[in-house]
Amino acid sequence: MLEALRAPLETGEVSIARVSGLRRLPCRFMLVAASNPCPCGRGEEDPDCTCLAAAVQRYQGKLSGALADRIDLLVAVSQPSAEEIGGAPGESSAAVRERVCAARERQEARLGDGRCNAEMTTAEVRECELDPVAAALLADLYSRRRLSGRAHDRTVRLARTVADLSGATRIGEVEMAQALQLRRRDRV
Ligand SMILES: [Zn+2]
Repeated sequence: MLEALRAPLETGEVSIARVSGLRRLPCRFMLVAASNPCPCGRGEEDPDCTCLAAAVQRYQGKLSGALADRIDLLVAVSQPSAEEIGGAPGESSAAVRERVCAARERQEARLGDGRCNAEMTTAEVRECELDPVAAALLADLYSRRRLSGRAHDRTVRLARTVADLSGATRIGEVEMAQALQLRRRDRV
């Protein structure tokens, strides 16, 4: 059933076939999903995790590569340490909101029609300016990990968003490295 999300994630439409014909309905949505790292939920680095490697692989395989490819951010979250959980709260939501709104404004000013980076066309992705180091980082990963064309473009869109958050005019090494980090399925 999860795989049924692939087309709407890509096209923003859902197609329903009926005797009367094929209906296409608008279906733009934001997918937010979470899963445990392994069947027991503790994660392999926890000494109490008794999951066998094959079971972990099977479990993680429920999210297919094709579907993961269509998700912009894949972030592995480790359990916070005792100091972190008892420590000072992080940045306030209001401060984060301000930063996100400023980044959205930059995107809309660049792309027009109230669009954000996720809606960039392939041609607009190609027009994104990458400095030579950022371009080399992406090219290296593209060939080493055999990224799909889709994953390549999603990485550029994400790096452009990281750049918009800091107000950078072009995608540099820092922005590209962060984008690549935010698309890793494995824990770091
Ligand atoms: Zn486990």
